[in-house]
Amino acid sequence: MTTFAECTFCRGPVEEQRIDYDYRRKGHLLIMKNVPAGVCRQCGEKYFKPDVLKKMDQRYHDIVDRHQKPEQVVEVPAVSF
Ligand SMILES: [Zn+2]
Repeated sequence: MTTFAECTFCRGPVEEQRIDYDYRRKGHLLIMKNVPAGVCRQCGEKYFKPDVLKKMDQRYHDIVDRHQKPEQVVEVPAVSF
């Protein structure tokens, strides 16, 4: 398993975790589950490896452009501040 460098914001230790990530792009929101990411233990900043970013990009296009059926559709509440 590749390790991540220290956090570029706070220089805290970054450890590999599987996270649920809200992938937002051009007004679309896609929840990516179980994404391997580096997460800073101090500030929570997230880091992704290039191949992970590429896969998220592909999944986005699968759903948004190629209209593949997602595994799940969730309802998200929204409010004005
Ligand atoms: Zn940090």
